[in-house]
Amino acid sequence: MLAENKQIAIVGGGPAGLTLARLLQQKGMQVKVYERDADRYFRQQGATLDLHYGSGLKALRAAGLMAEFKKHYRAGAERVTITDNNAVAHYTESHNAPLEDLDSEHSRPEIDRGPLRDLLINSLNEDTIIWNSKFAALEKNGEGWNLLFENGTTAYADLVIAADGANTKIRKYITAIDRIYSGTTIIEGNIYNAAVNAPGLWKMTNGGKIFAHWKSKAIVLSAKGEGSLSFYTMTKENEDWVNSPGINFSSKEEVLNWFKQRFSDWSADWHEIFETDDSYFVHRPQYSFPTGQSWEPLPNLTMLGDAAHQTPPSGDGVNQAMLDAVELYEALCIENFGTVEEAIASFEKSMLKRSSEVTVEALQLVDGMLSENNLQFMLDFFNELR
Ligand SMILES: Cc1cc2nc3c(=O)[nH]c(=O)nc-3n(C[C@H](O)[C@H](O)[C@H](O)COP(=O)(O)OP(=O)(O)OC[C@H]3O[C@@H](n4cnc5c(N)ncnc54)[C@H](O)[C@@H]3O)c2cc1C
Repeated sequence: MLAENKQIAIVGGGPAGLTLARLLQQKGMQVKVYERDADRYFRQQGATLDLHYGSGLKALRAAGLMAEFKKHYRAGAERVTITDNNAVAHYTESHNAPLEDLDSEHSRPEIDRGPLRDLLINSLNEDTIIWNSKFAALEKNGEGWNLLFENGTTAYADLVIAADGANTKIRKYITAIDRIYSGTTIIEGNIYNAAVNAPGLWKMTNGGKIFAHWKSKAIVLSAKGEGSLSFYTMTKENEDWVNSPGINFSSKEEVLNWFKQRFSDWSADWHEIFETDDSYFVHRPQYSFPTGQSWEPLPNLTMLGDAAHQTPPSGDGVNQAMLDAVELYEALCIENFGTVEEAIASFEKSMLKRSSEVTVEALQLVDGMLSENNLQFMLDFFNELR
């Protein structure tokens, strides 16, 4: 096999990096995953994710992890309610029977991000993940690379794969093509013990998801299995505001003041998100890459997932990241390329074509989600899916 006897370094232990590590390890490859988090418990993992038959679930099937997935998916979490600014429901699936048939092409079962990460981590050989390894720089070393980490450690690899997400530090070694601000900004967070800390909203989600849309603004809520409520606001903000919003996002009062002003035409039902002390906020401006981006493939360095093709959330990012992992694994281990460089070139060509199409669709969807008539846009979108 092409990458046999090569030391492979994957930087980033998110869905893309962990899925790839599992797939390569199944074929006996020598893989290490370098992850910046101190350990697997370090970071609160974000919202519930729906996995799709031809991408996220395809990766789990290839990784032999469907049986584990079936133990941890959240039946009923797929049920969506669409509301307006006053929390009045205009569409709801909350009385639908919970999803049971996970093998149908049309099912989109949900799993919380934490349990998804756990099931991927548990599938790896012990000591595959080197925690507390925040990547800092790459230096050429013969046919391979030395990886330098912020904690002062170094490692050698013949092949480096960047899976370090939206704020990637490795991408610049592959291409100078920079990301573009999409015009959309998210304030994301999590309310712990939501039944107590945000009882009205917790009841409204009823174990599923809320999409609230009104006049170019949106709030998305997802109930998580461990009792917390994950949320994000979506607004259109100009780049000046994004670069210096003048808000301390660790101050609940400052974020609530911003919300009351920016969402002044929304009812007080939503204030529960910002009033509890048992929560946090993260400011996430949303970027994408130019469609049609391409670069000269390298013989020993490539990237996948958000590092290669992030978009504002359209419900597909994790799925695309996991599909990248399958396709890179197939290029390296299943298809019959003569060199690793040829395998990387083939993988990148296909990934770039697919991700260009996905980027166009994601930007169109987010445009509709934040349009002046966004409530009607969402109602039409979900009615068409039925
Ligand atoms: C608010 C929000 C909601 C979303 N909702 C959905 C959804 O419903 N469905 C969906 O499919 N997608 C969704 N997405 C998109 C999805 O989160 C991403 O597309 C997906 O996580 C990309 O996976 P990844 O593995 O490429 O990157 P990430 O998940 O970002 O993982 C990157 C990993 O690399 C690590 N890392 C970062 N920098 C370094 C470094 N310097 N050194 C070492 N390690 C590093 C990180 O700690 C992390 O573990 C959403 C995104 C946002 C922001």
